[in-house]
Amino acid sequence: MKTKEQLRDMLHQIDHRSYPQYKSLRGEYRFPQYTLSIDHVQGDPFAAPSHLHIRIEHRVCGFPENYYAQEPARTALEDHLIRGFYEAVRQFSFQAKGSGKSGLISVSSCGQEILKRSACEITDKEVIIRFHVGFPANGRTINSAELEKILFTFLPQAVQKALLFSSQNKEALKRRIELAEDQAFIRDYLGKNDLAAFVADGAILPRASGVSDKPMKNAVAFSSPDSLRIKINLPHKGGISGMGIRSGITLIVGGGYHGKSTLLDALQMGVYDHVPGDGREYVIADGTAVKLRSEDGRYVRDVDVSMFINHLPSGKKTDSFSTEDASGSTSQAAGIVEAIEAGSRLFLIDEDTSATNFMVRDAFMQRVIAREKEPITPFIERAGDLFEKAGISTILVAGSSGAFFHIADTIIQMDNYVPVDITERAKALCGEYPISKEKPGEFAIPHNRRIMTKDETVHIRRNYYGKSTGEPEKLKVKVNGTDSFSLGRQDVDLRYIEQITDSEQMAALAHLLKYAVTNYVDGKNTVKDCGDRLYRLLKEKGFGFLAEGGYTFSGLAMPRYQEIMSCLNRYRRG
Ligand code: ADP
Ligand code: MG
Repeated sequence: MKTKEQLRDMLHQIDHRSYPQYKSLRGEYRFPQYTLSIDHVQGDPFAAPSHLHIRIEHRVCGFPENYYAQEPARTALEDHLIRGFYEAVRQFSFQAKGSGKSGLISVSSCGQEILKRSACEITDKEVIIRFHVGFPANGRTINSAELEKILFTFLPQAVQKALLFSSQNKEALKRRIELAEDQAFIRDYLGKNDLAAFVADGAILPRASGVSDKPMKNAVAFSSPDSLRIKINLPHKGGISGMGIRSGITLIVGGGYHGKSTLLDALQMGVYDHVPGDGREYVIADGTAVKLRSEDGRYVRDVDVSMFINHLPSGKKTDSFSTEDASGSTSQAAGIVEAIEAGSRLFLIDEDTSATNFMVRDAFMQRVIAREKEPITPFIERAGDLFEKAGISTILVAGSSGAFFHIADTIIQMDNYVPVDITERAKALCGEYPISKEKPGEFAIPHNRRIMTKDETVHIRRNYYGKSTGEPEKLKVKVNGTDSFSLGRQDVDLRYIEQITDSEQMAALAHLLKYAVTNYVDGKNTVKDCGDRLYRLLKEKGFGFLAEGGYTFSGLAMPRYQEIMSCLNRYRRG
């Protein structure tokens, strides 16, 4: 390892030279408090900025050991450090001048959710922070005096300010760690007490606007109906009360604009922890919950959708159903079967974003169109079996069909943003509005054996004339926010996977898929094998195994297992 003085000398030597000379800086440098590592140097001042990381020993940082010895404290501390470092470098960004991205200093920007990110990693030994710097140039000529400012003035100050325990707001940090432990406690409590979700009294569910994930100002705070109110004793905060949604089938009804979807949205994000002040800190759902919706046009491959769709007029079998362009109902059927495979124990469904003919078939329609003429067994006829035979609960928002009252265990009416338990009243009325006693076919948990393949035609490199060279293509990843990514020439559309909440999760999914098609496609591995292996590697090794060029890069955030499976399932494989 070189000293910081050697780095300074090197900087002086390459000043005014051509930009690629910056590459000679790759390496590690010892600063008094930390090690600075220059991992990758950009090719020119307009290219994606250079990758760096800083490692500081715990002895120097000084965080109490119980803040990082185990989860969930560790992730909470990592998240806290990224946010602090973000604020600290922001004021220095572009203070060093030059062309293109010269002078940029950036680290992951975190939203309302707390996610494990490659930007910060705390090991038993040290704190590692990964970030980007635009190496300064005038035109394409190195301006190393400006880089010297960044490396010798700005970064040491940012480290001092953001990464040392001594300069933290200790109360705020303690609260974050304790909140994380309380949130984990609630999630654990749900599983042990037959609950699907918890929404604390006083929670603020609506967001400021369609484009802001911050809490709405002056919103009506959540208040549980007495009959559903439970109290949980948290290790740090003490007693907390709120609505406990029991396992089983829960129906959320109410007039338009009364806050039904807002409640469901909060629950679907309740698989993640939220920062203090978010309003949803204590809105916690089963961590395997999956939001399911119709996805017109999606790709489906070899999925056994027969529990929902059977006897197609074409005679096409549906126990291994494939389509390039699914309809609303087939996409939703496939989504549910895939979510079962992905180990979900809670389905979240909003009638607004569902295919009507998939959800329910009313009595009149049943009388006019005989069962044998209808390939679709609607969700309403399967929800009971899903819970009783597969242990999967459903929380369903419905505004138009009363048929759901018959199958629900709990019925919550949203009335001016206030939930009311109307289970008894609605159940009493069920007798007056019977639904037909049609029995669906036998329920069995589908067993898919879907082989993971890759799109060979796409991954063969083509020459200038568009002819195949027979050589595999170098797979490039390009991320498009939380909507999609491209891998090579294929766009993987995940815009309807609503629980992907951060573009860094999308980036991680893209790199995971790339890893899978590079390493796991052998004609034997199933899609589930791939998902399991990717998830296990992530859990055991963090983001390191995705490293290319020998270093872990910043810019990835942890997706859940369910989203990894959703991604693999939507990749057009072959
Ligand atoms: P629904 O699904 O019942 O039609 P939404 O959940 O979409 O209704 O909510 C309708 C509107 O009311 C949204 O603009 C939402 O931001 C707002 N809203 C929801 N909950 C609250 C609340 N607790 N306080 C204030 N406004 C709310
Ligand atoms: Mg709605």
